[in-house]
Formats: sequence, structure tokens, C-alpha cells
Amino acid sequence: MTSATSRDSSPIQRDGNDHLDTIAGALFRPMGVDGVYARTALYEHVIERLGALVTRLREPGAEVFRFPPVMSRGQLERSGYLKSFPNLLGCVCALHGTESEINQAVGRFEKGGDWTTSLSPADLVLSPAACYPIYPIAAARGPVPAGGLLFDVAADCFRHEPSRDLDRLQSFRMREFVRIGKPQDIVEFRERWMGRAEDLARSLGLPHRIEQASDPFFGRVGQMKAVAQVQQALKFELLIPVRSEESPTACMSFNNHRDHFGLTWSLADPVGEVAHTGCVAFGMDRLAVALFATHGIQLDRWPAGVRETLML
Ligand code: 5GP
Ligand code: ZN
Repeated sequence: MTSATSRDSSPIQRDGNDHLDTIAGALFRPMGVDGVYARTALYEHVIERLGALVTRLREPGAEVFRFPPVMSRGQLERSGYLKSFPNLLGCVCALHGTESEINQAVGRFEKGGDWTTSLSPADLVLSPAACYPIYPIAAARGPVPAGGLLFDVAADCFRHEPSRDLDRLQSFRMREFVRIGKPQDIVEFRERWMGRAEDLARSLGLPHRIEQASDPFFGRVGQMKAVAQVQQALKFELLIPVRSEESPTACMSFNNHRDHFGLTWSLADPVGEVAHTGCVAFGMDRLAVALFATHGIQLDRWPAGVRETLML
């Protein structure tokens, strides 16, 4: 167990950042594993108001889906996730054996042994981002209409990167607007949302900047992918100084996948041109932590404009 110990009197394991350690107790409770926390009513209230604000910003015509925290392993494999981030993926495992095999595993555990050696993978993984399940859903409808498609999706996401940092959770909530259409549609969509994201951060009183970024691709080959991603300007992030000015936290991302998901899922327009896709992701937990880190834990002391924006 890595929960708070007697040498550490705070109700949550310490982040190491004095400022964040001060607010942690009001927002979270430990659940025995780094980066997985119970959320307090105060924290969830702000998450809810933030969610409602994002909904008010949604463009007309967006179709809404809310995904469970798990998705098809086959679909994620087909999406190429293992080629890019195999180290971050969590896979659901279960005891698939016969009654006697399952009893043996439980018996081993009861004698102090290891039951997990009898586990084998199920056909589910923990969703690492909210948008993966939408592409096969869109593809199942046939050709992408001339004006393209727009979705509002959300999921509880998992990434296997245990950390005590309050802005790096293993289980966190992601909301996304996803655009499917012509290359130019995606470019315009992303441009538009980078502007709106800055307006949003400003109206929430959050110091910020938008910078070009790359995903944390795995291994040596991954480093080359990251360089190519930057060269092609495929990813931007909205950064907020949650823990320090020097290493600000990515709280939103703006991604152009080009034809990756179009080719993977045979998403094409009626004349067979492969569709491009892009997404704008709101890290709901990071935005909430950023708000508390910036304005404190007493909501009635938050700036009036921020309270108004969030309808607090
Ligand atoms: P991306 O797919 O760009 O890596 O992630 C999209 C957004 O999810 C990020 O901009 C960030 O706000 C959020 N996110 C990514 N990783 C983490 C994490 O470890 N913890 C939290 N709380 N949010 C994350
Ligand atoms: Zn996405």
C-alpha cells in the first residue's frame, strides 16, 4: 500500500509540490494506489460545472456519446495503439478457466499465494483516450456525408503511469470534440478550437499558453515518431502552470490525425476520398486541478468573472 503513512499526516499521499499538497486534502482521498483518487464533493462540483460549460461551447450538430471506461481490445489494437504507447495500456484480465481451475487460483490466494498467475486477457482494454471508439461507430454508417461529422464524446481514461503528481493521474476524465471530414475541415476545426480554448482559459482566470507538442511515443522508434509529429504540426497543447512556470501542465490538446483513422476504419466520402480526423481534448481533471491551484479551495473567494463563467 502506498497510502498516507504515520510519517505523513496529510490525508493524501504527498505530491512533493507544497502548493498542491496544501489543496490536495480538500480535493482527493487516497485509494491505496498512486494516481487513483476518491474525489470530494467540492472537487466534483467544479468538475460538473466545467462539464456544463464545455457543453455550452459545443457546436451545433454535434452528436453526443458517453463511453464506458473499457473498450474493445480488438478495436484499440487495430487503431495502432500498441505501436505507439504499449507501455501506457491497461488490459482487462479475468479468470477464464473451468470451475476447478478458478477454485485452484482462489485456493492459492487463500494460502497466501498468487492468484493472478491464472489470469488471462479478456477482450477489453481500459480506454486510453475518449475518441478511439467513435471511429468504428462512424465507419459503420457508411460513407461520410459531404459536410463531415462532428461528435461530443467522453470517457474515464486509464494510462499506466503511476505518479504522486496531482496533475498526472492513472484514471482521469477526458471530454473530446471529434471532427471527421475533408483535410481542410480538420484544419479549420482545430484552428477554431485553439482560439476558443484560449478564450475559455482566459474566462476561467487561468494563465496559459498554447504550444506545439508531441505524444509520449514509446522507445527509440517512438522518438522519431515524436519528431515527425512536431515537424508536421499534428499536435498542440494548452499549457497551464499548475505546478510551476517552468514545467506547465497540458490541460487540453488539439490533434490532427490526418488519414490515420480514415485508413484504419475505411472512413471515406461518397466518392471514396479517405476522410481526415481531428480531435480537441479537454482534460477535465487537469482543468479542475488547475482551477483549484490557481484560485484556491474556497469557491466563494474565486474571482467573480470565473464564478460567473462556471455558473458557480
Ligand atoms: P492526450 O491524448 O493529448 O495525451 O491527452 C488529452 C488530455 O488528457 C491532456 O491534454 C490532458 O489534459 C489529459 N491527460 C492526459 N494525461 C493525463 C494524466 O495523466 N492525468 C490527467 N489528470 N489528465 C491527463
Ligand atoms: Zn482524441
